[in-house]
Amino acid sequence: MKNIILTGDRPTGKLHIGHYVGSLRRRVELQNSGKFDEIYIMIADAQALTDNFDNPDKVRANITEVALDYLACGLDPEKSTIFVQSHVEQLTELTFYYMNLVTLSRLERNPTVKTELKLRNFEQSIPMGFLTYPVSQTADITAFKANTVPVGEDQLPMLEQAREIVRSFNGLYGETLVEPKAVLPENKSCLRLPGTDGMAKMSKSLGNCIYLSDSADEIKRKVMGMYTDPNHIKVTDPGDTKNNPTFIYLEAFANDGHFERYCPEYANLDEMRAHYERGGLGDMKVKKLLNAVMQETLEPIRTRREELAKDLPAIWAMLKEGSDKAREVAAQTLAEVKRAMKINYFEN
Ligand code: ATP
Ligand code: MG
Repeated sequence: MKNIILTGDRPTGKLHIGHYVGSLRRRVELQNSGKFDEIYIMIADAQALTDNFDNPDKVRANITEVALDYLACGLDPEKSTIFVQSHVEQLTELTFYYMNLVTLSRLERNPTVKTELKLRNFEQSIPMGFLTYPVSQTADITAFKANTVPVGEDQLPMLEQAREIVRSFNGLYGETLVEPKAVLPENKSCLRLPGTDGMAKMSKSLGNCIYLSDSADEIKRKVMGMYTDPNHIKVTDPGDTKNNPTFIYLEAFANDGHFERYCPEYANLDEMRAHYERGGLGDMKVKKLLNAVMQETLEPIRTRREELAKDLPAIWAMLKEGSDKAREVAAQTLAEVKRAMKINYFEN
């Protein structure tokens, strides 16, 4: 069996450091590992429209923003097929057939969708497209026969849903689709990076993000304004590092080299954490280190991004080429699906 990756992002905003540690950094490593036969990276515009159908301009504008973030982080169109979901119309057709294999109550039980519905205040008027997006995500994954999906933790229920649909399809119509598995970040703090405001998840839709494209000043301002432990009032007070995003970000980004360069009185994060927990270490010092780490990490990404942004037509051309290629692959799977479902009436 081939090793194939499919993953992607919704073009609802520029990508942030949660995307970076949750999925993007890993994708680039997997891309460069040489262990994968095919890699597909999808800009999920059709999915983004399920809750932004009244704002197509936003979705359109963010397609190139996300593509720039990809290339700036090291995704390489020579090694990974980067494409736009809506251009691959076979995905919509697959979704329609897969919808027969899922019940409404199953969709309503999806914990990530539940949280997202609450956040969006849809209440009684839930768009059907939004509720069924996990089914369309199954189409995205299975169209490319992907067995590996590198994602953040919030995507686990989507992968579970995909596996259920695959099993149900293969059981009914014969072995056709491949069951995918999620690949989560190894570092626990990267599973779901909190927002700068201490909210459970950094999210484009919540405005609590540090973006990969933020200027040096913006990064500094956001880091200095970050939520920490509200009970750590005096420097001498013992502090909490578990629910404190400054420490969670350090876990996600800092290595011993950073300590040597920017905060040599501690050998590593464990030492700094212990000091904060027993009291005597102020938030300002932690934030100064975090700022230095973030600046060092994001500076090369931002510089590359600025360079790439000078030629947007080249970005669109790259996306068109990737989308055409993706479409050929999806068309093959769709033909197999139709054959399995015995709806290939006009073949030969
Ligand atoms: P939206 O608010 O529009 O849903 P988002 O910020 O949640 O945007 P997505 O495009 O839905 O971003 O997610 C893309 C990928 O990034 C998914 O694999 C998701 O698991 C991962 N991801 C998103 N936010 C985080 C985060 N805070 N920490 C870790 N991974 C994340
Ligand atoms: Mg999301």
